[in-house]
Amino acid sequence: MEHKKETRQFKTEVQKLLKLIINSLYSHPEIFLRELISNASDAVDKVRFKAQTDPDILKGDGEFRIRIVPDRENRTITIEDNGIGMTYDEVIENIGTIAQSGTKAFLEAIEEMKKKDTIAPELIGQFGVGFYSSFIVADKVVLLTRAAGEEKATRWESAGDGSYTIEEAVKPSRGTAVTLTLKERGEDDPDYTDEWTIRDIVKRHSDFVGYPIVMDVERTEPIPDAEVIRDKDGKPIGSTTRSAVRPETLNSMKAIWARNKSEVTEEEYTEFYKHISHDWNPPLAHVHLKLEGTTEYQAILYLPAKVPFDHFMRERRHGIHLYSKRVFIMDDCRELMPEYFGFIQGVVDAPDLNLNLSREILQHDRLVQNIRKNLVKRLFDLIEGLDPEKSDQFYQEFGPILKMGIPTDHENRERISKLLRYRTTKSEGKLVPLSEYVARMQAGQEGIYYITGENASTLKDSPHLERLKEKDLEVVLMTDPADEWVVQSLGAFEGKKFVSAEKGDLGTEKVDEKKKHEFEELFALIREELKERVKDVRASTHLRESIACLSGEAHDMSPYLEKILRASGQKTEPVKRILEVNVDHPAVYNMKFLYEKNSTDPVVRDYARLLLDLALIAEGERVEDPAHFSKTVGRLMAEASTVEELMKGEAIEV
Ligand code: ADP
Repeated sequence: MEHKKETRQFKTEVQKLLKLIINSLYSHPEIFLRELISNASDAVDKVRFKAQTDPDILKGDGEFRIRIVPDRENRTITIEDNGIGMTYDEVIENIGTIAQSGTKAFLEAIEEMKKKDTIAPELIGQFGVGFYSSFIVADKVVLLTRAAGEEKATRWESAGDGSYTIEEAVKPSRGTAVTLTLKERGEDDPDYTDEWTIRDIVKRHSDFVGYPIVMDVERTEPIPDAEVIRDKDGKPIGSTTRSAVRPETLNSMKAIWARNKSEVTEEEYTEFYKHISHDWNPPLAHVHLKLEGTTEYQAILYLPAKVPFDHFMRERRHGIHLYSKRVFIMDDCRELMPEYFGFIQGVVDAPDLNLNLSREILQHDRLVQNIRKNLVKRLFDLIEGLDPEKSDQFYQEFGPILKMGIPTDHENRERISKLLRYRTTKSEGKLVPLSEYVARMQAGQEGIYYITGENASTLKDSPHLERLKEKDLEVVLMTDPADEWVVQSLGAFEGKKFVSAEKGDLGTEKVDEKKKHEFEELFALIREELKERVKDVRASTHLRESIACLSGEAHDMSPYLEKILRASGQKTEPVKRILEVNVDHPAVYNMKFLYEKNSTDPVVRDYARLLLDLALIAEGERVEDPAHFSKTVGRLMAEASTVEELMKGEAIEV
C-alpha cells in the first residue's frame, strides 16, 4: 500500500493562536509540561474507561503510566503515554484545529484583546490550548501516536510556523509520544532536560495526576553484597557503589478529593482546579465534601472567578468530572448539576455507581439524583458564605446565569432569589439585594416597584417613574432580559409582590373624575387619530413633568420582553399599548383649548400624533414618521415666538 504523507496548513485561527501563545506565555514557559501531562492523563482515562466494556483493547498492557524522557545531548524532552492514542484523522481533527466550539468566540476574543492592546494569559488559558503550549519552549514538535485497537500509527510534525506534516508511521504499542526539540536556552532559562527541573514542575503542577509519571533517573547505589569482589581478607576491591539508571515515579498520585481537607493545601486545590478546568485563573472559592451513609460520595466543587468564554455556546462542556472509586467515568457530567450551575467545575467520586451507566440511565438514577440535590445545596451554602467582596464578584460574573434557575428550579427558587442584586432608583449605581429594598419599603407600599429595559440610566429617567419618585418610592431597575421571567415566576419576594411601574394602576393615586370628564372629548379625538397604534388613551397616574407615556395592562407583555422575543426570532403579535396623557401639563391644556375653539383644526390631530411620538422617544424608541415629527416640532418652535421676543429685548447677531 502507498505510504500516506501530506503537508497541511493550520487553520488560520490556529496560526493566530500559536503566535499569541508564544508571545504572551513566555513568562510561564514551564506550563507546557503540565498541559502535555494533562493530555496524557486524559488519554489514559479514556482507554481505561473503554476497557471496562472491552478489555481486549488493552492487549495485555494494563499498567497505565506516563513517561517523561529527557535527552540532554539532543536537547529534547518526550512525554509518552499508553493511553487511547489517535488515528490519522483524529490527529488532523484534534491537533490541526481548535476545539470547534471555541473557534468563533476565540477569534472574537482575540479581536477584543487587540483593540485593548493587551493579551492576557488568563484569557488564553480559557481556550484549552494545551498542546500548542509546546511551542513556547520548542522549535519543533513531533507527535507519534497509535490509537488503541489500530495497527497503523501516525506521525505529526510541525515547527509551529503555519504548517505541519502528517504521515503514516510505525509504533510498537498504543498511545502517544510527544517529542519537543527545545529552543536554544538563554542564560536564565530553566533546563527542561534537567532531572530536578522536571521533578520540580511535576510536583508543583501535576502531583495528583492519577497515573504514575515515571522518569529514568541516574543514581549511585550500593553494589549488592554478592556482587562485590573482595580480596582474601574480605575487603572489597574497587568501589562498593555504582551508578544505575532506574525508573522513578515523580508524583504522589493521591486523588486529592479522597484526602482529608486538612491535608490538602490551598496551592494543591488551585492546581487541581487548573488541571480539570483548563482555566489559568485561580478559582474564587471551593468546597470539599465527603459524604457517608446511603448517598456516599466525595467531591470538590469550585466556583470559577470568571465566566468561561464559551459559556453560552451550545456545544460547551460542563465542568463536572465523574469518578467511581477513582476510576474515571466521564467529564462533562451535566446530569449532576442543573443548567444554571453549568459553570461549576469539580470532581465527584461516587463509589456505588455502576461503571457501565449510560448517560440516559444516569439521568434517572436515584443515587445520581440524590447526589445532585445534595451538591446543589452545598453550592448554595458556599455562595451564601462568600465574603462581601467575593460575593459581589461572583454576582457580577454569574448572576445572569444563576437567575435562569428561578423559572426552572422551583425547589431552590427562593434561595436563588436571595442572591439576586439590582440597581434601584436609590442604590446610587450599586447593585443591592432585594432584601435591602424590602427593608426600605414605605408603610402601606403596594409592593416592589420595578421597571424593565435595556439601560439603567434611561430607565431611571423614565416618565413612568415620575409620580413614584415624587412620593419618594424606590423602583428596581431591571436590565437583564431574564428579569422578565424572574419576576413572572417569583411573583413576590419576602411576601411583597412585584408591581410593574409601567403597567396598569400603580395603586398610588386616582385621577380626578371631574378632570377626566373635561378631557373626554379631546381624548376621543386622540383615540380616533391613533386607533391603529394604541389601544386606549387615558389620563395618566404616572406622570408629573412629562407630557405622555406608554403603558400596558397588568397582564400585558412588557415592551422590553416583546423586543427580546422579536430579537430572538420569535413571532409575536405586537402588543398595542395605552397612551397615558398628563392632564396637568400646560401643553395638553393648550390642545384642549384649540380643540374647543375649532374641533376640526388639523393641528389638534398633528399634536395627537406628536404625543405618541414623545412617549416613544422617552422610552428610547424611534418615532414612526420622523419627517412628520420634525416638521411639527419645527412649526411649534416657530410659533413659540421666542426669537421675536428675544429680538425685542436685545440685539442678536444672525
Ligand atoms: P484540550 O486538551 O484542551 O482538548 P489540546 O490542544 O491539548 O486541547 O488537545 C486537543 C485534543 O487532542 C484533545 O482533546 C485530545 O482529543 C487530543 N490529544 C491531545 N493529546 C493527546 C494524547 N496524549 N493522547 C490522545 N489524544 C490527545
